[in-house]
Amino acid sequence: MTRGVRMVMLGRQGAGKGTQCVRLSRHYVVPHISTGDMLRAAVREGTDLGLKAAELMAAGELVPDDVMIGIVEERLDSDDTTQRGYILDGFPRTVDQADALAKITSSRPLDAVIDLDVAKETVLERLAGRRVCGDCAANYSVDKPPRYGWVCDNCGGDVVQREDDTPAAIEQRLADYESKTAPLIAWYDERGLLEVVDGYGATDEVTERLLTAIDQRRS
Ligand SMILES: [Zn+2]
Repeated sequence: MTRGVRMVMLGRQGAGKGTQCVRLSRHYVVPHISTGDMLRAAVREGTDLGLKAAELMAAGELVPDDVMIGIVEERLDSDDTTQRGYILDGFPRTVDQADALAKITSSRPLDAVIDLDVAKETVLERLAGRRVCGDCAANYSVDKPPRYGWVCDNCGGDVVQREDDTPAAIEQRLADYESKTAPLIAWYDERGLLEVVDGYGATDEVTERLLTAIDQRRS
């Protein structure tokens, strides 16, 4: 079996991170840990954490660092992650979180931190063109619409633009990402962990580039 990997995936929203994380997770046989998905699941299931997170998000506030760190620490303490590794997606977001992660992983340090690089103008265009099925959440875009009108190929639901995908909201999210992530990227670069990978091209090409970069890091 392929060796596992312990890595963090960074990149702007719309850079193709989600797709690539799923592919890398299959290749290395490690879990793809998306903190966004974990939070949404907790909210859906109504766990203590979910209730707290839902309350904060409803008030327009971010889930505080100590809560996020606690969630990640617990997840990284599971059998699958301690034995084979993980792909962390959505965490860390700040230098404080990165510092906490370094402490959590001190006995099994990260192999690599990947910055999947796609220019801001490109992701803006991609996100603005994004459309989603309101019923089954299947993804489409203005370039790849459903076969018949804006009706979902899978379930016949209405395919729409997400409310938070307006140009102004997208700009705001990207600006937030920029201001928070720039110091984080510098922090990992100083520690020799950062690998910038070009996110342009066909999905397969990008996956190949990622595998090459990660395998070099581990050798
Ligand atoms: Zn659908």
